[in-house]
Amino acid sequence: MSLDPYKTLGVDKKAKPEDIKKTYRKLARKYHPDLNPGDKAAEAKFKELSEAYDILSDPTKKSEYDNLGQEAFYQRGFDGSGYKPNFDSSSWMDLFNDILGGPRANKRNTFTFGRDFSFGGGQKGQNREHKLVLDFRTALSGSEVTLDLDVTEVCQRCGGQGVLASGGGAKACPVCLGRGQVSSRQTLKARIPAGVKDGQSIRLKGKGWPGENGGEPGDLLLKITVAPDEVFTREGDNLRLEASISLYECLLGGSVEIPTLNGRANLKLPAGTQNGQTFRLKGHGAPTGGGQKKTGDLYVTVKVILPAKLTPEALDLVQKLSEVAPVS
Ligand SMILES: [Zn+2]
Repeated sequence: MSLDPYKTLGVDKKAKPEDIKKTYRKLARKYHPDLNPGDKAAEAKFKELSEAYDILSDPTKKSEYDNLGQEAFYQRGFDGSGYKPNFDSSSWMDLFNDILGGPRANKRNTFTFGRDFSFGGGQKGQNREHKLVLDFRTALSGSEVTLDLDVTEVCQRCGGQGVLASGGGAKACPVCLGRGQVSSRQTLKARIPAGVKDGQSIRLKGKGWPGENGGEPGDLLLKITVAPDEVFTREGDNLRLEASISLYECLLGGSVEIPTLNGRANLKLPAGTQNGQTFRLKGHGAPTGGGQKKTGDLYVTVKVILPAKLTPEALDLVQKLSEVAPVS
């Protein structure tokens, strides 16, 4: 790639060094990748601006460019081997300090103006929240979930310093462009403990935003929402359900099958069970969590189902029943 640094920066050939610097500073801030995340066009523009400034801010390169012209400069200029962008110089380092030298703004997007390039003394990263909706039974049984997260990680190349040592000096890290951090999409597996409740947060240590200057990362907080179930409702560690029971089972009593989380269980009804009466099935509730193998209980509320159509013979029997067993 060869560019006209004057056109790229939009400055006049007679522009003073401080004006060139001022123009570059303004544009570089505008197109800086940190302020335009994911915008490839802005990133390309930022690189062009930086290359143009690399040429125009260096008196040797600038005079070579002015003397040779664009084509020859890129082919033969600078050591006779052709110009290539070189961001290793100490002037480049100064430049970075200069561009990023505004007030420290540690916002949620983790971008930090005014990276101080000091070694050590790291600052812990911020915690990060992520919403996770679980269906009712998954929340009760626990599971391993896969999360897709946009993550910002400490740059491996420079170890989060944003700079690399270079011949006794320092140069901006070419991988992270001095940010000390790189962005990517990461798949993360998380273990959801059995019995997690609606509104609860699960903390994944060290999976939050990265620290600065080698500081440890923050935590990821999974905010749990539990979807309702068709059969069960939950009250703490206990579950509730409404069971439809026939009139005769209620009158005569006996054993009826009740759905549970893990299958079915038998509920013994006494003769004369009333509509709306509630029974407890011990140990068929929700896991209480905390690493214990305990569970709450299942509360079953009876809803009496009456026979829909009665034959004359049946009506006769009901008539007799009402006489021998009046409802008080
Ligand atoms: Zn880096």
